[in-house]
Amino acid sequence: MRELLAAGEVAVIGLARSGLAAARLAAREGARVYASDSGPRPSNSVATGRGAAAAPDALAVLGITEQYGGHDLERIAKASLAIVSPGVPPDAAPVVAARGAGIPVVSEVELALWFLGKARLIAVTGTNGKSTVTALIAHLLRSLGADATAAGNIGVALSEIALMPVPPVWIALEMSSFQLHDTSSLRPAVGVLTNLSPDHLDRYAGTDDYYADKDRLFVNADAASIWVTNADDVEVTRRAARVRGEHRRFSVRGLGVDATFDEAHEAITLLGERLMPRADIPLFGQHNVANVLAATLAVASADPAFTTGSARDGLARGLRSFEGLPNRLEVVADSEGVLWINDSKATNVASARVAIDAMTRPTVILMGGKHKGESYTSLAASLANRARLVIVFGEAAAQIEADLAASGTHVPLERLGSSFEEVIARARTAAARGDAVLLSPACSSFDMFRNYEDRGDIFRRLARGVA
Ligand code: ADP
Repeated sequence: MRELLAAGEVAVIGLARSGLAAARLAAREGARVYASDSGPRPSNSVATGRGAAAAPDALAVLGITEQYGGHDLERIAKASLAIVSPGVPPDAAPVVAARGAGIPVVSEVELALWFLGKARLIAVTGTNGKSTVTALIAHLLRSLGADATAAGNIGVALSEIALMPVPPVWIALEMSSFQLHDTSSLRPAVGVLTNLSPDHLDRYAGTDDYYADKDRLFVNADAASIWVTNADDVEVTRRAARVRGEHRRFSVRGLGVDATFDEAHEAITLLGERLMPRADIPLFGQHNVANVLAATLAVASADPAFTTGSARDGLARGLRSFEGLPNRLEVVADSEGVLWINDSKATNVASARVAIDAMTRPTVILMGGKHKGESYTSLAASLANRARLVIVFGEAAAQIEADLAASGTHVPLERLGSSFEEVIARARTAAARGDAVLLSPACSSFDMFRNYEDRGDIFRRLARGVA
């Protein structure tokens, strides 16, 4: 790898937060770097990850040449190595150019792993729950007094961690399927697979290709590996069965496995013993019980020191104090008896379903955005159970309406245009005292918003009545 970095120019494709960190890491390791992005140069702000140290002049001093507004494909084709940021699709022209020229193409995570040899990783992937489980693992490790941080797809690039003078001992690493695609050095102390369901059909030829990337969590599996997987998920169980290593499993359905939800006593059970009551954990929904089981079992499996009596107390303490993440079933307002809940991160059908099922009040449900290729028909039963009204909006609105109509189940529904203000105003008049309003879009946000965070921010503000 050091030879690859020294052999010629290194091309970094995509210059958002992860790409910048990768460029700086490669430069620190002695590489000459050409880094490019198809978008415009961002303003110097914390929001774009461009701290003072990443100012253009400082980058030039480090040996990094930046280009915004396009890529020099010929230059990329002559590089010794191409490092791809997670946001860049596999069919983007610079990636195709690099592969076409036979250059090794690696993810930003792969580069970081080369320089994080001593760190102990708990890697997390799956279709849904990755960020929650990753954040919870880091939080639980810290409740046990361990030096831990969360990184990867959750927002802090692994290269930023590798740039630290003294990286933390433990890293909870969220890996998306795109990141796994070009990562071959992943060798976690524990690997977690939360669940699998169709997603990203706009970027994959089919579900098999998507699942095959998820399988790359196991790429270096051997007899010493430890895997934490979802025993309730048939696809996960089928795929994990072929993988070498020790398998530990969790179940919310009461299967007799290593971490379970004991329905009769409404309690969390870890390694055969009751850990704590479910009611003490401040997160909505049964899917979050699955997330809690996954994270707790992963931490308890990572080191024998994390299974002692006092460690179990620490885990329970950590679960009680975990606040959840923004944009995931986040209560943003409680006004005139109506609870406003922001689940903007629900960008696929499966994640919207768990959010809808988690509602205990009659709910006005806001769905829509950019269609990603999945059918919405399977949401009909959940919607019919919980929805006072479903308001569909954005590019996918007509598709959602048609799919729900095709289900044969009656769902009260209104289709609005593409003004989010109008959607919120209608939700306000539709919700009665004692109701909830839930934004759980089942779609990505790119038709009307910059990203899901932007959608969540605007919902939060409008819900609180701030113009
Ligand atoms: P990811 O990082 O995989 O997108 P998050 O933890 O950010 O997952 O949660 C995204 C959305 O997915 C949440 O808003 C919630 O609606 C849903 N979700 C969270 N955990 C699960 C789970 N275990 N199973 C199914 N859906 C989930």
